[in-house]
Amino acid sequence: MIIKLLYTIIICQLLACGNTKEPVSNSPAEDSVEVELNKEVEIIGLLYHRFNESKYPSTSISKVLFRQQLSYLKKNQFEVLNFSDAILKLRSKDTQGKYIVITIDDAFNSFMEHGFPIIKEFGFPATLFINTETVGSGDYLSWNDLKILAENNIEIGNHTHTHDYFLDMDTASRQQTFFEDVYLAQELIKSNLNLKPSVFAFPYGEFDEGMIEIVKKMGFIGAAAQNSGVMSVYSDLYALPRFPMTDHYGKLELFSEKISMKALPVIRKVPSSTISQINPPVLKLILGHVELDFNQLQCFIQGGNCDVTQSGNDPYTIQISTNQKLGSRRHLYTITVPSKDNNQWYWYSHQWVFPADK
Ligand SMILES: [Zn+2]
Repeated sequence: MIIKLLYTIIICQLLACGNTKEPVSNSPAEDSVEVELNKEVEIIGLLYHRFNESKYPSTSISKVLFRQQLSYLKKNQFEVLNFSDAILKLRSKDTQGKYIVITIDDAFNSFMEHGFPIIKEFGFPATLFINTETVGSGDYLSWNDLKILAENNIEIGNHTHTHDYFLDMDTASRQQTFFEDVYLAQELIKSNLNLKPSVFAFPYGEFDEGMIEIVKKMGFIGAAAQNSGVMSVYSDLYALPRFPMTDHYGKLELFSEKISMKALPVIRKVPSSTISQINPPVLKLILGHVELDFNQLQCFIQGGNCDVTQSGNDPYTIQISTNQKLGSRRHLYTITVPSKDNNQWYWYSHQWVFPADK
């Protein structure tokens, strides 16, 4: 009862509900959102889940391939950062270059057994996003394991307590439920590891604007989504893209292609939301004026291609559509396009979510 009351007070402060005063700001994050982002920095986020668990092909990567990927990074002298340092680079005005971030979601045992020893061997940092409800049960790491990882250059991030499908919840209660869940995870990490995570990852990469506001106001400096793409000045710091890395999508040839991508400069997208009431949805993008060879532009959705039309007056305004109804919960529209001199490819993707009907 007391905990419930505490939650209600805090959520009211965060959401400025009732008669409460100004929303609480407990970190520099809220102010820093306005800081001009660094145009010279691009960061490739890599997203892993399970290691050497071939019975989960959609989320697992073999030890052999993971080692090959890290060898490639080392050989090509990429600088690898953890997620919070990547965000600081994006916010910084005086750094430049291309960086890599290794992130692992869900904290399965196989990370400790197969993934972490390889990361340690290469001396790279990484960020592990943990959902606290399952810690120590089934095939999830224990608090003791997490403590060892945290002492060995693995940053711990918040991935909620329950790892729930928050978008399936009633919109009236969603924000409060989400806040309570993230808050509880933060408390458990603090009491078990004596750490206060500064970064967050949305379960399944699903969110709405209200959830992003809560993550900002709780003091996190940035958050990860699950659509593929390159982090840059054009990214929302609270919905940063990551390339999923599995045995299929992480094959060395594809891996080297993806880490050589640049961020397509999307100045504005309509709609801004990932949730669509219309199926199939239409996405409009307004692009920055970099030199692009639009003749080679490609558009993909799962299992096929999508259609792209350019506005008659302005080739940098494009509309993406498909005539097929999208059949499952989450879909990506992915765009790739080369520079005019063909030396560089740009990448952008937008995730659509169709929450379960209520
Ligand atoms: Zn997850």
